Amino acid sequence: ELPSQYLNRTLRERPELQARLLANENPFGPAPSAKKAFAAAVDDGFKYAFAEKRQLQEAIAAKEGVTPDHIMLGAGSTELLMAAALYYGLKEGHILSADPSYTSLMRMADRIGSEWVKVPLTSDYKHDLNAMDTRTVGATKLVYICNPNNPTGTTLDPAKLEDFCKSVSKKAPIFIDEAYIDYVANPDVTSMIKCVRDGHNVMIARTFSKVHAFAGLRAGYLIAQPEVIKELDAFSTGGGTLSGPTALAALASYQDADFIKYSVKMNKESKDFVYKTLKAMDYEYVPSDTNFVLFPLRMHGDQFRNAMMDKGVGIRTWEFNRQHWCRVSMGKMDDMKLFAQAFNQVVS
Ligand code: PLP
Repeated sequence: ELPSQYLNRTLRERPELQARLLANENPFGPAPSAKKAFAAAVDDGFKYAFAEKRQLQEAIAAKEGVTPDHIMLGAGSTELLMAAALYYGLKEGHILSADPSYTSLMRMADRIGSEWVKVPLTSDYKHDLNAMDTRTVGATKLVYICNPNNPTGTTLDPAKLEDFCKSVSKKAPIFIDEAYIDYVANPDVTSMIKCVRDGHNVMIARTFSKVHAFAGLRAGYLIAQPEVIKELDAFSTGGGTLSGPTALAALASYQDADFIKYSVKMNKESKDFVYKTLKAMDYEYVPSDTNFVLFPLRMHGDQFRNAMMDKGVGIRTWEFNRQHWCRVSMGKMDDMKLFAQAFNQVVS
């Protein structure tokens, strides 16, 4: 989760939070293989990490079927989102996104004077691809899509999204944020990296913060056409912020299929528990392909959030469609039990 002002304040002022379910972190990692690789790499910490980063870049390129010049590394995906925000934000025109969605790219672009056009989600809380296609015009300089979407946890139909990418990228570049893609049933089918491979003007952002549990270690990458990577690189540190130990730890985790499976499985157990808790209380929820669940509240979000915080449980709230919503991140089962207990008390 991008530390918004609210989030920073919450975590700083409430260090006593017993269940941190407000930033979509993953407490099931980092992987033992990643920790081992990190520790082994610390001795080389005095060197600039060109070789380590090259290794990670080449491994990602090989797996995704692109050349390394299609890949830009960062210490988390936020700095890649920021590079795109600066590069496209400084151009004439507007950036298009769904609403609500993950906003860090558009907010940065907005801060440097760029216009932001928001397209409401459909009634099933997904990106409205038809409306986004219609709204992509000559003045559109970037289309941002978060798939799966944060805060709704919804995923688009891969065939429909692929059609959208192929046709709409002829009008404007498309940026797809796939932070949560590892949690969907079939990430390789759902990912739009194939559109980059096929030469379309599509960018894919990935982070190690979620399934790999690197939110504090910081690693991410962007896959795009080499000429786009070159342009964006000029607005970044050129991967300079990514440390050598983190790059090698990320590489170990990236190649650790067992850990990824474990991470997804534990997340699902917590999610099933939350679904069951909500159902038992007769609350609806938006079925989620991520490590968080969004559900409608029956009270003001501020009131709910504060009452939960007072019980040591951090969650986040949203307001859209004239409705207050809670987004709860998946923690370990003990965290989810604390959530269930506090939720029961607060809403009864
Ligand atoms: N993109 C999405 C959709 C997110 O939800 C987040 C964080 O929660 C990020 C990007 C940024 O993550 P990071 O900078 O840790 O890679």
